[in-house]
Amino acid sequence: MKRERSRQLFEKACRVIPGGVNSPVRAFAAVGGDPLFIREAHGVTLVDVDGNEFIDYNASWGPLIFGHAHPRIVQAIQEAAAQGTSYGTPTEREIVLAEMVVEAVPSIESVRMVNSGTEAVMSAIRLARGLTGRDKIVKFEGCYHGHADSLLVKAGSGVLSLGIPGSPGVPGDFARHTLTLPYNDEARVQKLFEQEGASIACLIVEPVAGNMGVVPPRPGFLKALRQITQQHGALLIFDEVITGFRVAYGGAQQLYDVQPDLTCLGKIIGGGLPVGAYGGRRDLMEGIAPTGSVYQAGTLSGNPLAMAAGIEMLRLLSGEGVYEALEQKSARLCEGLKSNTQELGIDACFTRVGSMFSCFFTGREVVDYETVATCDTEFFKRYFNAMLEEGIYIAPSQFEAGFLSAVHTDDHIDRTLEAHHRALKRALSTKG
Ligand code: PMP
Repeated sequence: MKRERSRQLFEKACRVIPGGVNSPVRAFAAVGGDPLFIREAHGVTLVDVDGNEFIDYNASWGPLIFGHAHPRIVQAIQEAAAQGTSYGTPTEREIVLAEMVVEAVPSIESVRMVNSGTEAVMSAIRLARGLTGRDKIVKFEGCYHGHADSLLVKAGSGVLSLGIPGSPGVPGDFARHTLTLPYNDEARVQKLFEQEGASIACLIVEPVAGNMGVVPPRPGFLKALRQITQQHGALLIFDEVITGFRVAYGGAQQLYDVQPDLTCLGKIIGGGLPVGAYGGRRDLMEGIAPTGSVYQAGTLSGNPLAMAAGIEMLRLLSGEGVYEALEQKSARLCEGLKSNTQELGIDACFTRVGSMFSCFFTGREVVDYETVATCDTEFFKRYFNAMLEEGIYIAPSQFEAGFLSAVHTDDHIDRTLEAHHRALKRALSTKG
């Protein structure tokens, strides 16, 4: 595979951009080599600057559930751009998207748009602290909720892939208000709340963990979180930045039938443009300025282009049979991947909720950060590079989710399964 042009661009980028990337997860730090520079993408196909083509299972880390450059989304953005890109005033599109979110997500009555998932979570936590008058928050090891100070404690995603335990620059005074627990461990949550419940503002959780690879909640886990937080007067926040409009139109809260107090959204609702949102019961959301005194603002929040893309994305998603088709295709893909690993005698644990999935190279059942950490990351490295050679693009880390889109066809899946078999054989043959 030719990578000359990507290499040159990376070298150039490193001179003016830290590590050559604008988000650390894009670096190939966990898999070796330099990142690919992408020239363009259509449907499920990424084309890099050397002209190589890849079937994409990263979907820009989740947002592109209808693939790249979907004609209807492109058209919506073009039409909006022609009318001006930002006014710093309210616009009708903001209401349209807010109404669609309120209608879709069971626990949301009122929603505020922001510009990223990080901002959504940071703001929801501030609101929870403001409303309860408490400082402590609870999160789970391996869950990633963006890069706000309080949340970079035992986080997932790039923090996990790069092996950074916390982050310098986060004052100890902030970090000590963040309590962490193992994912899926209801008994530990119960115990912590018995000891410290009166000082806990909120518990935040990815209802399906997606930032240490995909780790589904154990049956009853989310319901237990709902009950325990309620009992102690703490708010329950679902971080549905990945799962929102991904695992079901109404997100994980619809799938598992659990209503959080606040929900954070991002990724899909921006249709590939920078967006985040947080919402919940109206009485809680009215705690935010200007109705309430918890301050949160944004010059570009509710940006017309992002709203236009988000609206069109949700229109596409509310079409007949979209989630059923995603489920069927994802099941077929994952069964095929599993049977390839079994045939070749490779230890692997497969997880999947709807169209988000992972293949962990471990013989253990994966339920939390500790079990995820048993993966053979050296094997993943060889596997990742062999998949690239075969024209399949997955996230460059064992600890990130795979995403199937509505525009992957059976033919893409067949080609992926054949490539996957060859890639596994190559990864095995270079073992040790
Ligand atoms: N929460 C979750 C669950 C996420 O997966 C992410 C990003 N991967 C974020 C928050 C942060 O979103 P952003 O990168 O848009 O700031």
